[in-house]
Amino acid sequence: MATDVYVSATLRMFTGREPVIQADGTSVCEILRSVAAGHDDIKRILFAEEGNLRDFVRIFVNNTEIRGLQGLDTPVKPGDTVYLIPAVAGGAPKKNTSVIPAERSSEVSFSDKDLERYAGHFLLKETGVKGQKRIRAARVLIAGLGPIGVETASILASAGVGTIGLWDHRKTELPDIKNLIAFTERDLKRPRTAVVKDRIRNICRETEVSVFDYEITSDNAEETVSGYDLVVDCTDSFKSRYLINDACFFAAVPCVFASLYHTEGRLTVFKNDRSTQSPCLRCLFPAPPERNLVPTCSQTGIFSGVPSIIGGYAACEVLKLITGSGSTLEGKLLSIDPLNLTTHVFNVDRNCSCALCGESPSVRSVQAVDYYDFCNLREPDDTPPVESITVEELVRRIENHEPLTLVDVREPHERAVHRFKQAVAIPIGQLVRRKKELNPDVDTIFLCKEGKRSILAINTLREASYTGPMYNLKGGLDAAKDLVFSDEAGWL
Ligand SMILES: [Zn+2]
Repeated sequence: MATDVYVSATLRMFTGREPVIQADGTSVCEILRSVAAGHDDIKRILFAEEGNLRDFVRIFVNNTEIRGLQGLDTPVKPGDTVYLIPAVAGGAPKKNTSVIPAERSSEVSFSDKDLERYAGHFLLKETGVKGQKRIRAARVLIAGLGPIGVETASILASAGVGTIGLWDHRKTELPDIKNLIAFTERDLKRPRTAVVKDRIRNICRETEVSVFDYEITSDNAEETVSGYDLVVDCTDSFKSRYLINDACFFAAVPCVFASLYHTEGRLTVFKNDRSTQSPCLRCLFPAPPERNLVPTCSQTGIFSGVPSIIGGYAACEVLKLITGSGSTLEGKLLSIDPLNLTTHVFNVDRNCSCALCGESPSVRSVQAVDYYDFCNLREPDDTPPVESITVEELVRRIENHEPLTLVDVREPHERAVHRFKQAVAIPIGQLVRRKKELNPDVDTIFLCKEGKRSILAINTLREASYTGPMYNLKGGLDAAKDLVFSDEAGWL
């Protein structure tokens, strides 16, 4: 009897975009073999060359991770579901206690205006006067002011959080206006921190706002997070994710992890309390995926509305940790896919061999880790450099009718926006299987949105022993937005 295998959004490009596929087998190992046999492209994503399951992929049978069962030998019974959950740049209920020191919240008093404003919370058993005092006394840092971070910050300000820190070094760009409901065209080129600070001021003048308008680095991470009761990690790179995880661990600051890929959100809570068995990000995903293996949200797009849902959940987790009410996501990973109407909660335990919080940790301080190396952001020395050509050079060669093959490695839905009519469409997940379509006697030029996945495409084909000349379109289609051929008005 076939078993349902739930495929996380991150991996669906390798399974024909299906969220659930069928596989045969009576153990996890057999199921994975069956998945790999039916979907060639996913095999190299799931397994390293030596055949080991890659560290950035977690596998659950129903809601339990296989490391807590029998690993790859875990039996799979009829009716079970196997879940493939890779890292995204996303147990029994534990008793929740407030993270706010009592001496701080006891000093809070409310004005008549506050009593009216927060009446809805005063009425609730889960908050009440005591909980609202904790909310006012709380200091919460939002790292990353993308759509999730802005939503979270806005909800926390309206709930009455006393101090909010905003950490982001980017300026507002046009795509932000589509994704961030707080942003308008008047905000273009303004620092994101300034825009969100204004928004919070308009929501609640009593909320203190601190702005950290610089990039997150090893030198500033621990010092910045240690001024707060809680951190909400809404950043969009693996480097920032692991850096914040490690900094919060060493500073013993709880962290709400909120992430989004395409249409799927992931949330969890890292309590960073040495006295509990709460896991950290490295317990969950010991290592990030290889460089460019998984496209980022800016490369794949975001379905409007989903970030607000994830931001709402993140704010709710923060308020539960502040007030000490309800059950939090400590020791659990919540996966929500509103587009496919699926919600899963997985149990996650501390990994006793975790490099950070395990029994014999190798990570001793944030400064001791090279996060660029750890996140594979440097080109390895033994990888031959990928040759690039500019958009202008490509135009010249096309107009001179030089023999060449153009390959667009983006996903089908991305090609609906910008289309290069001369290009053959081969999504990156199908390249190895379809390499016979390429002519090794002519130059092949690979293109994607930003010129990063096309580099991965070239390296993937090199690994698959393709020997023809290959070039990367520098800057990708983003660099070719204003391209006009001499014989036509435009190319879109
Ligand atoms: Zn850990």
